[in-house]
Amino acid sequence: MDTILNYLDKQEKKVIELQKKLVSLPALGPENGGEGEIKKAEYLLSYLRQYPSLIIKELPAEDSRVPSKKRPNIAAILPGKEKDRTIWIVSHLDIVPPGDLSLWESDPYVLRQEGDYLFGRGVEDNHQGIVSSILALEAFINTSTEPTTNMGVLLVADEETGNKYGLEFLFKYHKELFTQKDCFLVPDFGSKDSDLIEIAEKGVLWLRIEVLGKQCHASTPEKGINTLVASSDLIMRLRRLYKVFDRQDPLFSPPISTFEPTKKEANVPNINTIPGKDVFFLDCRVLPSYELSEVIETIKKIFQETEKEYGVKVNFEIVHGLSSPPTDKENEFVKKLAKAVFEEYNTRPKFMGVGGGTVAVYPRKNNIPAAVWATIFGTAHQPNECSSIKNTIKDAKVMARLLL
Ligand SMILES: [Zn+2]
Repeated sequence: MDTILNYLDKQEKKVIELQKKLVSLPALGPENGGEGEIKKAEYLLSYLRQYPSLIIKELPAEDSRVPSKKRPNIAAILPGKEKDRTIWIVSHLDIVPPGDLSLWESDPYVLRQEGDYLFGRGVEDNHQGIVSSILALEAFINTSTEPTTNMGVLLVADEETGNKYGLEFLFKYHKELFTQKDCFLVPDFGSKDSDLIEIAEKGVLWLRIEVLGKQCHASTPEKGINTLVASSDLIMRLRRLYKVFDRQDPLFSPPISTFEPTKKEANVPNINTIPGKDVFFLDCRVLPSYELSEVIETIKKIFQETEKEYGVKVNFEIVHGLSSPPTDKENEFVKKLAKAVFEEYNTRPKFMGVGGGTVAVYPRKNNIPAAVWATIFGTAHQPNECSSIKNTIKDAKVMARLLL
């Protein structure tokens, strides 16, 4: 173990070299006006190919919207003593746009270093994870140490815009990569003190709700059916979801499920028309002890009440619905991670749940344990995104400890 940890302690230059290159190769999805992740993926592929002991799999998803027609996903596997089990470390290749450039102190696509700090778009989200996992991989290769199980570094596309071409794609079309004995580490959430490990997510349910009535002149409301009134009533009735699904789980903050109306589409353009159609959206974050289908059934009943009372028709569409069971905090892999974090950072990390939204949902849906953890400042998606060289190396040491 000491050989590996000492090796990693000397990798400061490597962190800078990799980050410099990664920052210079922006990987924006087509939704964000980009050409995808192909350039960054090609660089990393050629980098990883210098190691003949790695099994490298290219698993691209087809996407006609980008010039290469490919959204790259890469698996680099170092075989371990136990051959039928892989510890996967998943990072994403894509970034979000830099936003208002005047808020940046330097070019977001040119790495800037100030002592231990690195600045640039993507340095934290998710280059730190990419670099830490590659360093850990190299530590085993360059010290000729065999990991206890296979070590799989997984670099995926499309995390920032829905995962359809990334980890969701891999679990749909390349499920043979994964087994129930595997474990996932997702270094894409955490705290600066390394004291948080995410093991659960609320289910996410987004609904588009359309209320149909009858348009007429505002001076003769009896001739129409005012859908703004019906929608307003419906929105207030939907507050009841908080009472129906009122379980609490202290793992989460807030500890309850939430059901919030959010976006509202424009209805009529003028003041003197009664709207015959209203559309709004509902964002539900549901504790994993409930099924999303139970929530949908209750919502349907509430729709029927409004339909009956106002003579409107309520249609709905599920824009997004995804949930997964939590990973047990008593799971052996999770406990090993907490121990490794304690050994590197001298802190006892707290287990927690979040309101939804990491790639851990895919392994968890398949009953494969997944923990989300990294030591980061929380500057993702912000101007002057920042990451620490020291933490990148320490995170690599935590990763290596999981395989020793
Ligand atoms: Zn991320």
